[in-house]
Amino acid sequence: MLKERCGVLGLYDFEGNTVSARVCEGLYSLQHRGQEACGAYSFNGRELVGLKGPGMVSQVFDPSSLANITGNAGIGHVMYPTTSIDMVESCQPFVFKSGEIQFTLAFNGTISNFVEARKNLESKGVQFTGRTDTEVLAQQIATRIERGGTYFEAFEDCFKELDGAYSMVLVTGQGDLYGVRDPVGFRPLCFGRIPEDTIVIASESVAIETLGGELERDVHPGEVIRVSKDGVEKRRLLSLERHALCMFEYVYFARPDSNIQGKNVYETRVRLGRSLARTHPADVDIVIPVPDSGRSAAFGYAEELGCPTGEGLIKNRYIGRTFIQPGQRTREYSVKLKLNPVRQVVKDKKIALIDDSIVRGTTMRRTVRLLKATGAREVHVRPSCPPLISPCYMGIDFPTKEELIAPNRTVGEIANFIEADSLGYQTIEGLVSSIGLGKCELCLACLTGDYPLRKKIDLELMESTLGDRG
Ligand code: SF4
Repeated sequence: MLKERCGVLGLYDFEGNTVSARVCEGLYSLQHRGQEACGAYSFNGRELVGLKGPGMVSQVFDPSSLANITGNAGIGHVMYPTTSIDMVESCQPFVFKSGEIQFTLAFNGTISNFVEARKNLESKGVQFTGRTDTEVLAQQIATRIERGGTYFEAFEDCFKELDGAYSMVLVTGQGDLYGVRDPVGFRPLCFGRIPEDTIVIASESVAIETLGGELERDVHPGEVIRVSKDGVEKRRLLSLERHALCMFEYVYFARPDSNIQGKNVYETRVRLGRSLARTHPADVDIVIPVPDSGRSAAFGYAEELGCPTGEGLIKNRYIGRTFIQPGQRTREYSVKLKLNPVRQVVKDKKIALIDDSIVRGTTMRRTVRLLKATGAREVHVRPSCPPLISPCYMGIDFPTKEELIAPNRTVGEIANFIEADSLGYQTIEGLVSSIGLGKCELCLACLTGDYPLRKKIDLELMESTLGDRG
């Protein structure tokens, strides 16, 4: 199964200054969205120039490599693929060159109807060089441009033909920057302006703020933003009633200092904790977060209960996040290296343990065992997300349904599996009201099995083919 989560960034400097160093600085702010590979490309007035490869931003880029990436319109990407596909093939930005046409794009998401869309393009004579859905996206765009269409028309084609999640930035061979969000708006994308007259389009507002800019607003689902020497042009090409922003952005993925759809992520997580405490209070001595993703919710949970919080688990920051490590063996190895308990905080305590979610249950079981081995009297587990019962086909690192702990098990059975004294999940109602957006604005498919995809998708086929692409 393809497992992918990414961050994208685009910059356009109206004064003509090279943007690549700032693209990299922005990518540092998005590094939490993917640590396996990254890249940056710009248009230098003649051609697209850039660099991409496996590793974090600090490993792939240095001042001398950046000096070669000139141009006032540039994009960047951070990624983690957890697929068998060759890392080099999966790395973005993707560069398309054919005759006079060239562009580079980076996207966050998954084209859910990848198989049909590729076959459709092949039937029109398009030849593919790889197996990634990034190439499907690029070829869908190129097909229209090669026939003399505009980029706006090409994105309109994408909206018609491609289902799934794609928040995208793209720089053309004319030096224009585009930001595009799919019509359902699964993945976030926002834009703002930084001094010296530069436009930034980014997965998260934190990238704009750390570059010294101000968030203007989220890119609307189905909207295209073009930034060129003529200025900024915004066009809503498709407006649907049903939107589906991934609820996991608030629960886990996004940085707490980001704002998505007008909701601050940190404040949302605190509300999730409060809601959890109202639904599932626990008679405990201390509330302990699983760092870092459970911390903000733990504050809310403790505040609501009037109970102290403590850092009973210390994270080794130099090990990647468990949830986003590729491959089960690497994941298990990472867990062992990742958390260490603070005996003075944990010993003889009744603990409410707050984490964002329980996926397979194995990580949580290990954490509970760790706390008990350190002398905890009781461990009451409170995930700030409701039970995950269905896979994600929109670009998130999810295991198959068989690997998830929650489907076909009662809460009691899960509590037994993770060896907790009690387990109390967030409710879907608590989640939605904590986020503060309507149900019809959020994707909740991994909680409900109800996929807000526009085309009829063969989910079994999706599952069987996801592992073969990037
Ligand atoms: S299925 Fe779950 S993880 Fe995937 S986009 Fe929807 S809410 Fe997000």
